[in-house]
Amino acid sequence: MNRDLNVYDNVLQLVGNTPLIKLNKITNNFEGSYFAKVEAFNPGHSSKDRIALHIIEEAERTGILKPGDTIIETTSGNTGFSIAMVSVIKGYDCILAVSSKSSPDKIDALKAMGAKVYVCPAHVSADDPRSYYSVAKRLHEEMKGSVYINQYFNELNIDAHFNTTGPEIWEQTEGKITHLIACSGTGGTISGVARFLKEKNKDIKIVGIDAYGSVLQKYHQTREFDSSEIYPYRIEGLGKNLIPSATDFDAIDHFEKVTDEESAHSAREIAVSEGLFVGYTSGAAIQGLKQLEAQGEFTKNSCVVVVFPDHGSRYMSKVFSDKWMHEQGFFDSQNEEAVATIEYIK
Ligand code: PMP
Repeated sequence: MNRDLNVYDNVLQLVGNTPLIKLNKITNNFEGSYFAKVEAFNPGHSSKDRIALHIIEEAERTGILKPGDTIIETTSGNTGFSIAMVSVIKGYDCILAVSSKSSPDKIDALKAMGAKVYVCPAHVSADDPRSYYSVAKRLHEEMKGSVYINQYFNELNIDAHFNTTGPEIWEQTEGKITHLIACSGTGGTISGVARFLKEKNKDIKIVGIDAYGSVLQKYHQTREFDSSEIYPYRIEGLGKNLIPSATDFDAIDHFEKVTDEESAHSAREIAVSEGLFVGYTSGAAIQGLKQLEAQGEFTKNSCVVVVFPDHGSRYMSKVFSDKWMHEQGFFDSQNEEAVATIEYIK
């Protein structure tokens, strides 16, 4: 097919090469220039298309994955969607263990893509037999001809971003990037991009966004796993209650923690200020950016790239639902008026 004419053999040929879009209003009063790497432009609407395609094609190339096999994964939703999409095109069965914290929109989307879904309790420890990690591992052990993607502990997760996202950002900024800001979940995105960028210029500052209730920032500072850091939080896809080996802590300079509430408001702000309808962790990344700016991190020479991992449509029953925002206590007298944009004519 002629890709120059925008014609493709299948949807997988559209993975990657996402646009870098200048932020114009949110960062209006900040010194420097600011860009978003908008991963919702992937055909599966998130950065996870990159790792799903890379890991599955590597498994095929090395003979681990054979026709008729089943692909199994633990996922907060996005990786599952991407794996399901790749499985449809390549003809594999797909089983996904998801956390009960994942939005119903995400879970329904997985089913729409033909995956079998197990919903596991969110607030149990990683080694609990009911956790989504344990369930996926057990299914993999029980099922012959199954392949476990294991994104948290798979080095290929880092490689996918080292091979694609990192070079794209370097080229799109013409080597001018000074700061990368990316949410850290498995750590694959930030680690792969960081490894690539640091090879080009070791002075580029790499900032990971972490959640309150996650162990990542403390581990980065002390190299100790502190379980007392762990408590439930609402943002899906960033932070962790374990230490993923897909995170290269040495390649990351700083972790910034953000709250559920401020991240939710930032996600809504991105839509109305930049016209970009992106997910909860994009809001978290912008919230982290605002905090860094307030700390005096940026100068007029700063060229900052913020990764927006997925699309806002996955959060219609959460961040973009006024009812949900109210239930979380995220609307106070200051923020209430933002809600009054729908009028019902009786
Ligand atoms: N945002 C969202 C919505 C995600 O699903 C994920 C993946 N868990 C991330 C951010 C973090 O990306 P990574 O796993 O590459 O660190």
